[in-house]
Amino acid sequence: MGRVLKKEDYNKFLQHLKDEGELIAPVTTKMVRFETVKNIRDIDLNSGNPFFPIKKYFLPNKEALLKIRSGETKSVDKVEKKKLIFGARLCDINGIAILDELFLNHEYADEAYKKRRDSIIIIGINCHTPPSKYCFCESMDLKKEGYDLLLHKREHNYFIDVLTDNGAKLVRHLPEAEVDIPLPKTKKHLDRKDLKPFFADNFWEKDSEQCVSCQRCTILCPTCFCFDLQDEINPRTKNGDRVRTIDSCHSKDFTQVAGGHVFRDTRLKRYRHRVLHKTQFFQDKFKRSMCTGCGRCIEYCHSKIDFVKTINEDFQ
Ligand code: SF4
Ligand code: SF4
Repeated sequence: MGRVLKKEDYNKFLQHLKDEGELIAPVTTKMVRFETVKNIRDIDLNSGNPFFPIKKYFLPNKEALLKIRSGETKSVDKVEKKKLIFGARLCDINGIAILDELFLNHEYADEAYKKRRDSIIIIGINCHTPPSKYCFCESMDLKKEGYDLLLHKREHNYFIDVLTDNGAKLVRHLPEAEVDIPLPKTKKHLDRKDLKPFFADNFWEKDSEQCVSCQRCTILCPTCFCFDLQDEINPRTKNGDRVRTIDSCHSKDFTQVAGGHVFRDTRLKRYRHRVLHKTQFFQDKFKRSMCTGCGRCIEYCHSKIDFVKTINEDFQ
């Protein structure tokens, strides 16, 4: 059972969200981005999918995981403020469900990730029409998961799908309704196929020759999570932090090991790894694709490389 929100009560609902904690939503300045909302009038759901996915609120670019003080090591016990993310689309929200799978659903949950995850409520919006011609989420088996609430705009009201207790508390004042929210339809599609037989093929050359290893694709991807761990130690006091910084499989250093050997030493190997990790390896292991079809890595690629087109047309 879901809830229904009248169109005339929409602004009141947004204000209600803002009163509950730090409200984050798409805001347009020079570009549309998720930002802390100062005034609900600034929320912009009509200027396309925000440039950066919501991943940045779950996996910051840099964070201290351990403190090293006087020879002792302690976890960083950071208090996370309650945040409400409004206006994320299903591609980004499924991206968080994938990060949850990696950082939470194992014998050892990642403490820092868990704390942030527990402090964030996601109120998604369903796409009627895809925000960009590069979207291909319809091919990627998106699921209705990862959010607390999902809004679906209709002519006179919004249907609200309620998935969690935190979400239910936010809408308990609204009337109940049977809600049926359709998944988005896209014009672009990925022809899902087994890519393992193409691993050693020269099909990879065309795209990887254009790749400049700028790493924009991995920064903008809602599911890329590669990171590095470094100890930042003050040589005088010997105190410092163990920090996690976001990294990229497109970086040559990423697979460098002690002794200097680099496992993925060519652009072809690095490009092929990213595409296969997204479309094949993760699928084989977790039975779902790691790509959610948001299209950002194609739309904003420095060299306009379109891996979907290549897989569809060349990998036969
Ligand atoms: S691989 Fe590209 S299209 Fe797929 S989720 Fe990442 S950025 Fe979006
Ligand atoms: S954005 Fe394009 S050019 Fe840059 S690393 Fe990714 S695939 Fe290569």
